[in-house]
Formats: sequence, C-alpha cells, structure tokens
Amino acid sequence: MQKYQIIPRKFRPSRFSQVAGHEAILVTLRNALAQNRLGQAYLFCGARGCGKTTLARLLAKALNCIGLDENQEPCNACTSCQEIAEGRSLDVLEIDGASNRGIDDIRQINETVGYAPNKGPYKIYIIDEVHMLTKEAFNALLKTLEEPPQNVKFFFATTEPHKVPATIISRCQRFNLGRIPEQHLTLKLKRICTELNIDASEDALIQIARLSEGSLRDAESLLDQLICFGKTPITLDLTREIFGLISNEHLAELDEAIQTENLDAAIAFAQKLYESGKDIGATVDSFLEHYRTHLLTPRTYTKDQCLTILDILMQWQQHMLKTPFKRIHLEMLLLNLVRSAKRLPLDNLVQRLLELEKRQPPVVTAPAPKPAPPVEPPKIVEEKKPEPSKDDTHSSHYDTLIRFAAVELEGIVNQEI
Ligand SMILES: [Zn+2]
Repeated sequence: MQKYQIIPRKFRPSRFSQVAGHEAILVTLRNALAQNRLGQAYLFCGARGCGKTTLARLLAKALNCIGLDENQEPCNACTSCQEIAEGRSLDVLEIDGASNRGIDDIRQINETVGYAPNKGPYKIYIIDEVHMLTKEAFNALLKTLEEPPQNVKFFFATTEPHKVPATIISRCQRFNLGRIPEQHLTLKLKRICTELNIDASEDALIQIARLSEGSLRDAESLLDQLICFGKTPITLDLTREIFGLISNEHLAELDEAIQTENLDAAIAFAQKLYESGKDIGATVDSFLEHYRTHLLTPRTYTKDQCLTILDILMQWQQHMLKTPFKRIHLEMLLLNLVRSAKRLPLDNLVQRLLELEKRQPPVVTAPAPKPAPPVEPPKIVEEKKPEPSKDDTHSSHYDTLIRFAAVELEGIVNQEI
C-alpha cells in the first residue's frame, strides 16, 4: 500500500513551472541559472506557507542537477535530484533555525563548510526561520558569509526579515515573496482535486483560497481536512459548515432583515446564530466577506450602504472578541446593521442640507428678530429647535434633517461643513 502523504508534501513543486505565483522571482532565478551568475547567499522573506523553502529547495536542486533543461528546470531523475527530493542528500543540508539557534549549531556548520561536496558541484545550506538564531550565532555565521568557499551556497528563509541583522542581509540577495493571489491558489487546488479525483465545486475552492490568506500550505491543509471529512462532492455549503462559516441561507436571512428593516427578524436571527454555537469571530468575518462581495458587485445594496455596514462590522469586530456577553452583543450588532439601512450617507446628507440652506432665506417670512442663521449649523444643532416657522414645509423638513444629523452623526456634519 502506498504511504499516505499530506497534500502540502505530496504536491510540493518539483519544477519551477509548478510554483504558484512569484513570477518575477522565478524569472530572476532562471536567468541567474542560465547565465551562471548566482550569488553566494540568498534570503527568501515572506509570510508562512508562501513558498520560501520550496523555492530554496528548487534552486538547490537546479544547482546540483546534471540534466538541467533549457528552461533551467531540474530533471528530477538524476541521483542528486532524487536525493534532494527525498531529503537524504549530503550536499543539501536543511537546518531549522528555530531549534538550532545557538552558536554551537553554527560552529558545526562552519566546520563542515570547508569539506568538498559529496557528489554535486555545490554544498548548499538551507536555514529556515533564520531570524531565530541568537546574536552570537549570527556573528559566527557572518564570518563564514564574509568569505565562503566557492562551492558553498547559503539559502535563508524567514517570516521576519527585520529580525535578521543588517550585516547578514547585506551579504545576501534578497527576495520578498508576496502572498499568493487567490486565483493562483484556487487554480492549484483545482489541479490537486483533478489529480486526486476529488469532486469539488469552484466556489468551494475559492472559499478555501480566501480562508488561507495567501498561504498555499494553509490552502492545501484545509483541502486535506475537507477530503478527510469524507463527504463528496465538496460544495461551498460543506466547506462553510466544516470551517464554521455562515451558510448562504443565513446570509440571505440577514440581507432580508436589513432590506426590510425588520428588527424582530434581526433578534431572531441573532438567537439562531448564537444557538448554533458558531464561533462569533468567524461569524463576523463571514459578514465582512459577504458585504465586501456586495460592495464589489452592488445590486441589493448601494455602495454607501455597503460601506456603512462594513464600517459597523469593523467597529464591532474587535469588541465581539473581547466581550464575555457574546449573545447580547451579537443582537446589538445585528440591530445596528438593520438600522443602518435607514441611515443616509453623509455626503448625501450634507448635500441636502446645503440645498435647503440655499432655499431657506426667501421662504421665511422674516420675523423681526433674525431667524436662526442657517449658515451656522453648530448653533442650530445645539438649540435643537430653530425658529418655528408655521408656513412652509421646507423648514420643518430642515429641522428634521438637522435633528437627524445631530443624533446620527454626533457632530460630524459640523466639522464636514
Ligand atoms: Zn537532476
């Protein structure tokens, strides 16, 4: 029986062309290989799971491969390629900087640096999480980096480059690996599913990609988890259920409550969510993602409504995590969202106030003392009641608006004007 391998390991790229994202870095590395202009030391920086060690391993493979093709891809067939792939090459040494961080560990490296490589042309040290090395260890490493033997290369990987001393960084060629874009992640997941003969819907894979925030390793692990659950096909609803996200029906229910400004429905919805035992943080995240999508494709909501809702969610997000009174806060959040439907966008409100101001003077039947001057909204807000003008609808409308602004915007209008 074939040994089970987790997806991140099983689908680790064996060629540059299989790497997801990082196109510019790949071009640079290929050119360097083609022109034989490789530096002595490389520093790969980037978030977890974005492919730092994968690139380092591929570069090591390419350097020692005897059958490199015209695209600088390693052959994956020669002894060196196979030994590196299986992690038993004596020429490519992988060191975990987190558990080998002391000066003695680096001294050991320094002592072996002088020996010739076993088979290939280069001896390559890959140090992962290099920022974890102690100050003394970095100093010891620096000595070797200053004058390394010709056939020795150092590849460092780190999630925290700011913790690596400048003296080390200045001796390295540095590559900053960005987060892998969602489309790339989705594509990779799709390929994995095809290869494993797993039926998975596109929107489920997009959701997984979104959850993994640019980390391929996370995306692959999440897919692994879903596959292990054993239910096929893998749908968006299944994905949401397994990872504790809000389902589409639930989101539709919330939309309905907001659209119809139904406060009772919002309370009932809060109760349902609370009783389902879903993680409140993940719930708010789901809302945020839902309204972010709405913002990008405004149909049910206007852009302003989406922005207001997103604002409210962002304000409550941190709060929700800290509070011990989750249920009541969830209710308050939902009530706020429902009320937001009535809220006029600020720009709109200011515009209407200005228009009313322009129209105001000729309408007022000039009583002896001057009416509350419309040019000074702060005073009007404080007085609450401007001169009661019996005759026209404009000023009562104006009054309502001002009161509304005073309550809803707590003085923002004054500053804005
Ligand atoms: Zn090879």
